[in-house]
Amino acid sequence: VFSTKGYDRTFLTAALKALPESDKMELIFHKCALDIDSADLTKGSGAVCVFVNDNVGKDVVQKLHDNGVEAILLRCAGFNNVCLTQAETCGMFVANVPSYSPEAVAEFALSLLQTLNRNTHRAYNRVREGNFNLEGLLGRTINGKTVGVIGTGRIGVAFARIMSGFGCKILAYDPFQSSEFEKYGEYLTLEELLPQCDFVSLHCPLMDSTRQIINKNTLKLMKRGAMLVNTSRGALIDTDQVIKSLKDRTLGGLALDVYEGEGELFYNDHSDDIIQDDQLMRLMTFPNVIVCGHQAFFTEEALGEIADATLENAGDYVKG
Ligand code: NAD
Repeated sequence: VFSTKGYDRTFLTAALKALPESDKMELIFHKCALDIDSADLTKGSGAVCVFVNDNVGKDVVQKLHDNGVEAILLRCAGFNNVCLTQAETCGMFVANVPSYSPEAVAEFALSLLQTLNRNTHRAYNRVREGNFNLEGLLGRTINGKTVGVIGTGRIGVAFARIMSGFGCKILAYDPFQSSEFEKYGEYLTLEELLPQCDFVSLHCPLMDSTRQIINKNTLKLMKRGAMLVNTSRGALIDTDQVIKSLKDRTLGGLALDVYEGEGELFYNDHSDDIIQDDQLMRLMTFPNVIVCGHQAFFTEEALGEIADATLENAGDYVKG
């Protein structure tokens, strides 16, 4: 099991105990990421368990196969870091965790939106210094505002449901429309949606068609002072252009759980190190910006679901 933190060990160990096939399995934890250099740690293992940051490209898959590994178990939804073609050529079993607590991510999008909108992050810092001044902390009531949801899959629908409970008008853009979303709002084109929304939240996957979906042109379409929340993938946003829009105050605020450069920053073995990243530091100079380190999924419930599903996949592999 690669790229493991303490919490991975806790939840995966508990999930293993609950599995009927547990006597046929042993988990070996590695803190390091899987790559061509660490791939030899898999010798003697039937399966590897990996996360979003692990490199399971063509050469690594081949090396795993040469080492006798038969299964690649992802403890995440995305599998763009795995060369599926090579895995197929090698006859390897690949399994992911397609869904885990969409509410965890949707609720975090709401908490980012609330924090940004009411300046709670700034109030917290002030009060820590003994300052109870409200100057500059004026927020807006969310009730009655228009919320744009880009991507209405599992998380987007959960977010739409939450925001409709706040009495918001919900608009969405998704090339594949779902009847589940239509309980909460209406679909528009992106061009129609952006000028109308006070808050925009991104819930689509990162693909060629969505990379920098928030760019110079789409930022121009957004309502002046609108706030943008991104809990999906950093590269959905052209960060340099967003910084320009924050600077000229056309964008009213930005809350990110995901950041373009996060791969190198957050999933290393030195996650307590102080990180130097000029663009991130630039973002953090704006009082109306919040950045978190990809924690939207990080609830006890979601980690439990991920561990259970990963071990069920491991059980399927063991059962053949
Ligand atoms: P999902 O597959 O259920 O839904 C994605 C939706 O995006 C689909 O309805 C799809 O039609 C839509 N979509 C595709 N192309 C689009 C486009 N061009 N414009 C608008 N919508 C488009 O996925 P999900 O489970 O709801 O997850 C959404 C994303 O959330 C994931 O792809 C992942 O990047 C992110 N995520 C983040 C965290 C976190 O901790 N921050 C955790 C889990 C997932």
